[in-house]
Amino acid sequence: MHDIVIIGGGPGGYAAALYAHNFGLDVVLVEKERVGGTCLIRGCIPAKTWLQTAEVFATVANSEEFGIKSSPPEVDWPAALARKNKVVDGLVNGLSGLLKARKVQVVDGFGRLSDGAVEVTAGDGSVSRFESRAVILATGSVPRSIPGYDIDGRLIVTSDHALDWEEQPGRVAIIGGGVIGCEFASLLADMGSEVHVFEALDQILPGTEPDAVKVLERTFRKKKVAIRTNTMVGPAQLGENTVLVPFGDESVEVDVVLVAVGRGPLTDGIGLENTNVEVDRGFVHVDKVTMQTAEPGVYAVGDIVAGTPQLAHAGFAEGIAAVTHIATGEAAPVDYRAIPLVTYTHPEVASVGLTEAQAKEAGYDVDVTTHGLRGVGRAIIQGEVGGTVKVVAEKGGPILGATIAAQNAGEMIHELMYTVAWEALPAEAAAFIHAHPTVSEAIGETLLSAAGTSLH
Ligand code: NAD
Repeated sequence: MHDIVIIGGGPGGYAAALYAHNFGLDVVLVEKERVGGTCLIRGCIPAKTWLQTAEVFATVANSEEFGIKSSPPEVDWPAALARKNKVVDGLVNGLSGLLKARKVQVVDGFGRLSDGAVEVTAGDGSVSRFESRAVILATGSVPRSIPGYDIDGRLIVTSDHALDWEEQPGRVAIIGGGVIGCEFASLLADMGSEVHVFEALDQILPGTEPDAVKVLERTFRKKKVAIRTNTMVGPAQLGENTVLVPFGDESVEVDVVLVAVGRGPLTDGIGLENTNVEVDRGFVHVDKVTMQTAEPGVYAVGDIVAGTPQLAHAGFAEGIAAVTHIATGEAAPVDYRAIPLVTYTHPEVASVGLTEAQAKEAGYDVDVTTHGLRGVGRAIIQGEVGGTVKVVAEKGGPILGATIAAQNAGEMIHELMYTVAWEALPAEAAAFIHAHPTVSEAIGETLLSAAGTSLH
């Protein structure tokens, strides 16, 4: 009898497996591919590696502004792809080594709940059973598509395929202007592809502060990305090597369509029908304090959980919460109020807590403070002055949320994460001094203004 069997070796599953060593638990981790999951193999890590390549390209292409003459850069796509694979392989190998060092038993195969145990079917068809005190379901998610866009991996693709393109596409239509759509639009446009983004709602990155989205949109337009919001596309018309994407009375011809309309849970076939686990369109309901499902001893974490963000770092936190409850019986709930969300476009858009609209909807009377980067020394030095910082606080009360659009917004957001998590008053947070010259000084300026004592 093991302590825990975990089904799925992505961020939720492997974080649970690694964390269990703190309690001396005996853990089996079942994985049908390599360990690492979407984030390491088909998500965050490869996508950010491509974005890094695009950033280097853009830096070289714009070097004259900084007094450096260079020849116009060329993309060596196979070399960039090889680097992406090397980064992924290195991290997967590192993770495998760490799991081994922590004495986690990694079992290759497809796991499913069966008669109170986990049954694992290996690639050769052999079946084994693992009994345990607790099971953690961490099977993750896959890209969804829409009618008229059957994924064929060549003309109509998802991010899974796009991360492994063997050559740079010339013209790309991206359906869905969410996080994935915008990250691909950013990297492709930076490297010179023609990009069309189709978004059904009234702005790209729906749910994000409109001020920050405007900053990204302005940059996209400069790079000639065609953004069409409030736009539904008709069914794709496939040619031999091209696709016609109709919308309204118009259409655009492209070489490939990237569908990025969200990700659905991967819970088919894992035996939930024989349990009390409650499932809603494939998503698993849990008690968000313990991560336990309605079936005692069965927990769920990561992208399959209903009503929590589909983010690797949310999965890590949920894995930790589940293991803590299994090991100690004590609840160590995830603080969902202060999980940062970063879109790694150029510039990045990062947020934490509530937006102005969300705070008002929740009934708060709010004070809103924004500060542009135009006068910030370090931003001027970097040639990146288009950004903005926005802080939302309850009138006379604590900071509720913040959003940053800036080159390194994803790094900068964490100080505001603490202000939201610790319910700091603007004046309390503004009392500390930022190093000069840094882009983060814009946060200090915003906090000073929010406290009613602006400086510049
Ligand atoms: P998403 O939900 O962020 O965006 C999907 C977008 O597609 C939305 O804007 C939606 O309005 C639009 N859409 C839906 N149907 C449409 C249609 N028929 N026509 C046009 N637009 C349509 O989903 P995603 O970008 O696919 O990402 C999936 C998940 O992965 C998200 O939860 C995201 O947070 C996560 N993710 C996070 C990161 C990150 O943290 N940097 C990166 C990639 C993905």
